[in-house]
Amino acid sequence: MSEHRHLRILVTGGGGFVGSHLCQRLIDNGHTVLCVDNFASSTRRNLASLLEHPRFELIEQDIALPLHADVQQIYNLACPASPVQYQRDPVQTLRTNVAGAMNMLELAKATGARVLQASTSEVYGDPAVHPQPESYWGHVNPVGLRSCYDEGKRCAEALFLAYHRQHGIDIKIVRIFNTYGPRTQMDDGRVISNFIVQALRGDDLTIYGDGSQTRSFCYVDDLVSGLVAMMGSEAGFTGPVNLGNPQEITIAELARMLRDQTGSRSQLVFKPLPQDDPLQRMPDITLAREQLGWHPVTPLAQGLGHTIDYFRRELQAASVEAVPV
Ligand code: NAD
Ligand code: UDP
Repeated sequence: MSEHRHLRILVTGGGGFVGSHLCQRLIDNGHTVLCVDNFASSTRRNLASLLEHPRFELIEQDIALPLHADVQQIYNLACPASPVQYQRDPVQTLRTNVAGAMNMLELAKATGARVLQASTSEVYGDPAVHPQPESYWGHVNPVGLRSCYDEGKRCAEALFLAYHRQHGIDIKIVRIFNTYGPRTQMDDGRVISNFIVQALRGDDLTIYGDGSQTRSFCYVDDLVSGLVAMMGSEAGFTGPVNLGNPQEITIAELARMLRDQTGSRSQLVFKPLPQDDPLQRMPDITLAREQLGWHPVTPLAQGLGHTIDYFRRELQAASVEAVPV
């Protein structure tokens, strides 16, 4: 599918952190974007630069409800990604992942659109294989607090393959590893936004557990390039394919790095580790390199710098708004 052809593209969850960056990239590439979002875990503020654009349209809707739109591509990103957000209403998280995915597949069936599913490294659970290749089936607690998300995403992957095998739907599945950057909500609850906001406010940095658990963080611009590359990949390559940055770091190291980069004097404090919190996570991106020619290019310190700048501006804006008149 050529990047140069003008397409009408649906992005579910387009108001969210990743979705808003993806919508911007697709607009910059000359396409028309239809964004569907119910703002369950984001705000319209993320779309400030797009709302007036003539090739951008917003539909405020829950994807678990049927939707018709005349589009050639669908990126299905709708779903809260932060454990704090997706555990707030676990039934709705499952409904979004299962009924929402089915609706998008039905839409692809009706229109002939190619459809990409934003799956997650959470399908590997607390992995016994490290780093995680796509061939690893995972180690997921099906009845734990994270299961509304993990199992919802696993079911969505199964649905995508079932529609592909049974109805010939043109599908793509990406498994996204921890991604960070501007436009996560300040109260989103994920580790990088939490640590930056805490450091900039001079509050304690809350490390869950002893901080020895690892994650591998990918800058959002790199992820968006991977999503677009996967959508444009040759027909028949369905994935799943891992998208993430293989640079692994412990959460304690990350806290120290962010404290240094913000110039903060915040203390590091230790809180209980949440249930089923994976102890290690790092993508094997061999398949993405080979099939998509993709790999992340933004060094962690650089991406964190952009993210810190963003939250500094957000905190300043919030303090100006809070001044009584
Ligand atoms: P986010 O919470 O910032 O964005 C999700 C968006 O989906 C929000 O705008 C939210 O309002 C919307 N949404 C939620 N439920 C909806 C529904 N039922 N109908 C319509 N809109 C709905 O999360 P994100 O980080 O941008 O993640 C985007 C996608 O990528 C998600 O599917 C997530 O599971 C996946 N993912 C993200 C990461 C990451 O580190 N950011 C990692 C793995 C997977
Ligand atoms: N974490 C932490 N302090 C926080 C938020 C998260 O130590 O304020 C930890 C969390 O327990 C996990 C890691 O950071 O081990 C990544 O958490 P996040 O919620 O960002 O993503 P996920 O657990 O889904 O990878």
